[in-house]
Formats: sequence, structure tokens, C-alpha cells
Amino acid sequence: MIPVIGLTGGIGSGKSAAAAIFAELGADVVDTDAIAHELTAPAGAAMAALRAAFGDAVVTADGALDRAAMRRAVFADARQKARLEAILHPMIRAEAERRCATAAAPYVVLVVPLLLESGAWRERVRRVLVVDCPEAQQAARVMARSGLGEEEVRAIMAAQASREARLAIADDVIDNGGELARLRPQVEALHRRYLEMAAVS
Ligand code: ADP
Repeated sequence: MIPVIGLTGGIGSGKSAAAAIFAELGADVVDTDAIAHELTAPAGAAMAALRAAFGDAVVTADGALDRAAMRRAVFADARQKARLEAILHPMIRAEAERRCATAAAPYVVLVVPLLLESGAWRERVRRVLVVDCPEAQQAARVMARSGLGEEEVRAIMAAQASREARLAIADDVIDNGGELARLRPQVEALHRRYLEMAAVS
């Protein structure tokens, strides 16, 4: 089986930026967020089950998941959140597995924002690669990208694993606290390491 590297990091840490460089270098990138979006797009494979479980109120006119409505439905309701996850997570997992199994590159970078929070993903990956940056920078980047206010961004960050907890389980770390130009050489060095790893596995 080809090695699967689990790439994780807090919101705005630079996961997408790092994954794009890995892809450019020739790795296969499987992004669990992108899969989740596909499953919940109009006519997405999860939409029938979501409509049956949560009703028409969480479906937009064109048949996609109404994210704002869904957020409201699961906000502060652990049972509803568990129902949503029971539908979506196995589908995300199955599609990610399918893509990993059909990968043509020497190794796969599997982007999982909440890797720490899920034992199943941690067991699946050969190594955990954490994209790290100071929390103030993370918040500033997300605010610049999304237009959300500091309070909202801090609330999202507070719901995720802490920087310390992520670093504690990292096999490899990308320091993305500096300029964007410092990201590429770090990804290149890891790419060489993962190619070597793939060659002997
Ligand atoms: P994530 O996928 O972890 O949420 P992104 O890769 O989307 O994070 O990065 C968040 C935002 O910050 C993007 O707009 C990205 O272009 C920008 N960004 C990423 N790394 C840096 C960096 N080192 N310096 C400045 N901006 C960065």
C-alpha cells in the first residue's frame, strides 16, 4: 500500500497552500473537505440521506446542502450533530479510501482538518504532518480571507484542537509562521523524504 501522509492544521494555518505545492511536486492530494463539499453539492451522493434525516429546511432550491441552516440545526445540539456525522463521515471516509486506492503517485497527501479529533483517521495515515503557525496569524489570515470578525474566527478556533495538542501528535511539522516564500522549501524537503519512504515501502 502506498504511504498516506495525513496533513492537518488549524483553520488558516496554510493546509491548502501546502497541499497545492505537494500536488505541484507530483504527490496525489486527497482533500476530505473537498469530498464533503462534493457529497453535499446539488445532487451530491449525501443529499438524499440528509434530506430524509433533517427535512427540506436544510436543502437549498438547487438541491445542495444549506450550510447555514445545517449549522443552526446542529449548533448546541449534540444529537443532531452526531446524526449529521453518522451520515457524512462514512461517506467521506469511503470516498477518500477509494481515491487513495486509485492514486497513481508514489504517495498520497490526505488533507484532514480535524485529524486529531478522529482516531480513525489517525490510524489510517502513515505519518501526521502538521502545518503550524501562531494563533494570532491564523486568525488574521482567516479574517482576511473570509471577512469574518475576530470573535467568530476565535470561536471556530476554540472548537478545534489546540496548537499544542496538534504539535504533540505531529511526526512532521511545517512552520508556516513566516512568509509564504518559506513554505515551498519546507514542502520540497518533505517531498524528498516521502519519496524515499515510498521507495522502501
Ligand atoms: P487552511 O487551508 O489551513 O485553512 P490556507 O492555505 O487556505 O489555510 O491559508 C489561509 C490564507 O492565508 C490563504 O488566503 C493563504 O493564501 C494565506 N497564507 C497561507 N500561508 C501564508 C503565509 N505563510 N503568509 C501569508 N499568507 C499565507
